[in-house]
Amino acid sequence: MKINAYAKINIGLDVLSRRSDGYHEVRMVMQTLGLHDEITAEKCDESGIFISSDSGKVPLGEDNLIYKAAALIMKEYSVSRGVKIGLTKNIPVAAGLAGGSTDAAATLRAVNSLYGLGLSDDRLCELGVRIGADVPYCLTGGTVLCEGIGEKMTKLDPHPSCTVLLAKPPEGVSTAYVYKHLELDKVSHPDIDAIIDGIKANSISDIASHTGNVLESVTIPEHPVIGRIKDIMKNKGAKASLMSGSGPTVFGLFESEDDAKTAFGELKRSQTDLELIITDIYNPDR
Ligand code: ATP
Repeated sequence: MKINAYAKINIGLDVLSRRSDGYHEVRMVMQTLGLHDEITAEKCDESGIFISSDSGKVPLGEDNLIYKAAALIMKEYSVSRGVKIGLTKNIPVAAGLAGGSTDAAATLRAVNSLYGLGLSDDRLCELGVRIGADVPYCLTGGTVLCEGIGEKMTKLDPHPSCTVLLAKPPEGVSTAYVYKHLELDKVSHPDIDAIIDGIKANSISDIASHTGNVLESVTIPEHPVIGRIKDIMKNKGAKASLMSGSGPTVFGLFESEDDAKTAFGELKRSQTDLELIITDIYNPDR
């Protein structure tokens, strides 16, 4: 069987507090993109989890989130046979686009269906959060307000269609480092409710005037290229440009595909080491 595993961006990302267990209380508006990895899964008689991929950038053993997802669901439901999973990687790795989490979510779905386990979406989400805070969102997809550590989800109206330009600089950004250095009392917090109102009004301009990601307060001073990419996208017509998750990928929301292509060309000329992708908003239920 084949399943698409979609990337996400954060239209808004706010951090409310640090919890005593080390996690953070967040409030974020998440959005699925058309960009996706492709996962194939088949049963095999030999027990075990066998991963192959066209990408040299992801581990193929126990460290792959695909492996963790398959191992968890198969152990929990005593599946003694094995599974072979193939991964075509289109989502940039370690980018803030939930590449690993979405592959894990697709794997939970694939094993559920291959082995006829009949698990509900709620049950898959309970398993998913044990792998990563973004996995329940990746199982659900669409335009969603995520709270708690990211696992408390409220479906929102679908985000208006637009062209999305992604630019990933090569800089490695550690999510743990970013959260550790975040100074919650000093950052300016995005107005998540105003973003939700903009989505309700189906207005890219209203959404764009409130987008914000508190984590940029750590990453932009450390990696000024993130700020430069945002400026170029805005100068070339992006209604909004923002870092996704803990970065380093920057996305731009464009009402005009031609503007997105112009920004793509400008970024390619001025920052030759970027991974650049043009994609769109994807709302699964539409
Ligand atoms: P998030 O937005 O959820 O923080 P991310 O997009 O920043 O995630 P990933 O692409 O998930 O980051 O990669 C983070 C790390 O996870 C990488 O170092 C990578 O080696 C590892 N990893 C494990 N499994 C996968 C997978 N299936 N796809 C991508 N990365 C994976």
